[in-house]
Amino acid sequence: MQGTESEHRSGSAAIVGRPNVGKSTLLNAALGQALAIVSPVPQTTRNRILGIVHRAGYEIVLLDTPGIHKPHSQLGRVLNRTARDATADADVILYMTTPTRGVHPGDRTLLSDLGGKAPVILVVNQVDRLRDKSRLLPLIEELGKLRDFAAIVPISALRNDGVDRVLDEIAKLLPPGPRRFEADELTDRPLRFFAGEFVREQILRSTRQEIPHAVAVEVTSFEERGDTVHIDATIHVEREGQKRILIGHGGDKLKAVGTAARRRIEELIEKKVFLSLWVRVTPGWTESPRSLAELGYGSES
Ligand code: GDP
Ligand code: MG
Repeated sequence: MQGTESEHRSGSAAIVGRPNVGKSTLLNAALGQALAIVSPVPQTTRNRILGIVHRAGYEIVLLDTPGIHKPHSQLGRVLNRTARDATADADVILYMTTPTRGVHPGDRTLLSDLGGKAPVILVVNQVDRLRDKSRLLPLIEELGKLRDFAAIVPISALRNDGVDRVLDEIAKLLPPGPRRFEADELTDRPLRFFAGEFVREQILRSTRQEIPHAVAVEVTSFEERGDTVHIDATIHVEREGQKRILIGHGGDKLKAVGTAARRRIEELIEKKVFLSLWVRVTPGWTESPRSLAELGYGSES
């Protein structure tokens, strides 16, 4: 359906679910650009990330959210709140899960506290990992008993399979309305936010255990000078030992993180980037409401 101005639909959809089901991967597939950072580590996403999907006939503001989990720190509680707040104003909720044997206990809890206002689309992601697709049917049937879904869409966000169907299902549920963003607008967040995120992404991908959860990246300076951008960022960790690991022998680790992050930033902003990284020990930042707010967690929602 080609939209005339009166048929054009616009609105927002919040992507929620357990950690690691592929929410950020779906956002990126829908945008056709790896805007949200993705890693195998739970709690990779810490902020509400808004991506604008432009299609003929509709405009969808997709909200990527942190995975809702059992929190072990003040940071964890802030992340859960960020996710829940995003669902409160959305026109549509995309509830994402993965093929499990029987309903995952986390899904049972989350689906029952989603609230009742906005319609919910069930997205079963990562179906590429399922050898026997017939196993999907009993799961979908069981999930369907937990609440009413406006649609149920099995997808593989990683392979971009089924993503357009999800978008079409969202569009059907949106109110008629005009475009609210320019055709080339991808997000409401400034480039400097993504610069910090891309540094954190490389750290999550190259460290283990407690380090990913102990790291925050603060962009302290972001200066465009002609065709180049100069960025300074401080990586906060909680302990000296973490700082040593992150810097690595003779600074090797930090250098590799910086190089990979710089390439990602250059791709996004299409300019040459000079990136300088510092590592600082900020004890207890994951527990301190003030540090959390200063590092940009919780304040946007
Ligand atoms: P989030 O925590 O829900 O945002 O999940 P992410 O998007 O960060 O993805 C978590 C992990 O699952 C990453 O390693 C992704 O590459 C992987 N992943 C996401 N979607 C798919 C999918 O459709 N198939 C497979 N096999 N892996 C996926
Ligand atoms: Mg995520």
